[in-house]
Amino acid sequence: MDFNQGHGVHRVAAIAIAARPANPMLASEMALGVTLCLTSQRVTRAAHAELRAAIGRRAPAVTAPVVATGSSIAVRTVTRARKAVKLRYNASMASVSVNVLSSPYEVTIEAGLLARAGAMLRALSASKRCAIVTDDVVAKLHLSRVVESLKAAEFDAVTAIIPTGEKNKTLATVSSVYDTLLNAKIERSTPVIALGGGVVGDLTGFVAATVLRGVPFVQMPTTLLAMVDASVGGKTGVDHAVGKNLIGAFQQPIAVLIDPTVLTTLPPRELRSGLAECIKHDIIRDADHFASLEKSINRALALDVNYLADLVAHNVAIKAKVVAADPFEKGERAHLNFGHTFGHAIESVSNFSYSHGESIALGMVAASRAATKLGMLDDAAVNRIITLIRAAQLPTNGLKLDVDQIVETMIFDKKVKSGKVRFVLPDRIGHVVMRDDVPANVVREAIEGLRG
Ligand code: NAD
Repeated sequence: MDFNQGHGVHRVAAIAIAARPANPMLASEMALGVTLCLTSQRVTRAAHAELRAAIGRRAPAVTAPVVATGSSIAVRTVTRARKAVKLRYNASMASVSVNVLSSPYEVTIEAGLLARAGAMLRALSASKRCAIVTDDVVAKLHLSRVVESLKAAEFDAVTAIIPTGEKNKTLATVSSVYDTLLNAKIERSTPVIALGGGVVGDLTGFVAATVLRGVPFVQMPTTLLAMVDASVGGKTGVDHAVGKNLIGAFQQPIAVLIDPTVLTTLPPRELRSGLAECIKHDIIRDADHFASLEKSINRALALDVNYLADLVAHNVAIKAKVVAADPFEKGERAHLNFGHTFGHAIESVSNFSYSHGESIALGMVAASRAATKLGMLDDAAVNRIITLIRAAQLPTNGLKLDVDQIVETMIFDKKVKSGKVRFVLPDRIGHVVMRDDVPANVVREAIEGLRG
């Protein structure tokens, strides 16, 4: 990665923080040092190169020289850099219980948690071995810290690295992970950890549900979307040529470990994608938090880690409550599909050029407009929904896809019940209802409304 190309000081600082989150204060100083180096004209090319290499190695010893380099720079630059870094930490930890049937589990949210993963897992498993499944992007950024912490807790860790992206959420990739795990002779008691976004989480959960007829599964989500949604609730699976998520299993994790500092390396588009799910949760369940998100969405976009930690905890609590009430999606869990009936079809017809979150954002706008057309939701509420989605820098219009194709794809959606497409529609902010009687013209008009 070239820090000088296309990356502002925020991003560089974020990468440095991700390199050493175990000690937030040190990480913060290191980030400041990096920022200073990269904003100062006094730093030589050689120093830049050394810094980049050191961060690449995640070498603990780099902290001192980096900060030392930083401290020799003018106070004016320090002040500028401090403003630019603007990342504050506290030592707060949140824990949310997911009370599903006979297998309840905890979701722990704490800055720096990745470096404690081994100790946390040791408390849950006496196994000598464990397996980590991650993708090739996350592996470069965060894998080494997890492996080190597992080693420190006396786990012998086997790693399977899959190629990044939704197009690899397939049975072929599952098969390659089976190969790695079975060749390493994992046992029924070997915990399998998903370290990554929703793709890694969904695929690894399916592997864990099926390999050796089921092994313990741990989620370590690294995208906002996976933290607030995909990692909680036990839905796992892969895509099929016919559609998304059509092959899968319910497999609850034994623990979900969330380190919000990893969000600082997330590309902005992926961060926004996760915000779509946060907005969704508030529309379906929490009008008060929706109002607070309207005021604070910029803190999330600015990667304020304290704010993101709170946001994740709030959203995990909503998801946990819904999942506990309906673990197998027989009823109210379907509320989580708000925006998804339209959204999945948009995602699929766009051939995934819209991300999951972007598709859901458009889907939520379409569903809200459909609710208005049915006389369920007032205009003021729709406008607030659209304004918040826009404030999160997500799309609300400009759709160029073929409307007929989107409608046809929706009919294939697995949420089709007895030939009718089921929609989750808001009747006020904070509350939704399920409807399978939405007239075809209302559906079409709602999609057409996304073009303008
Ligand atoms: P993703 O897993 O593809 O991750 C997005 C990108 O971000 C990838 O390129 C990944 O390598 C990269 N990345 C991940 N963490 C990073 C980090 N910390 N820093 C830098 N880059 C990082 O996508 P996603 O949005 O996390 O998840 C989408 C998937 O989740 C979809 O397949 C969707 O179906 C699924 N999903 C599942 C559920 C569920 O309940 N199981 C719910 C919602 C979504």
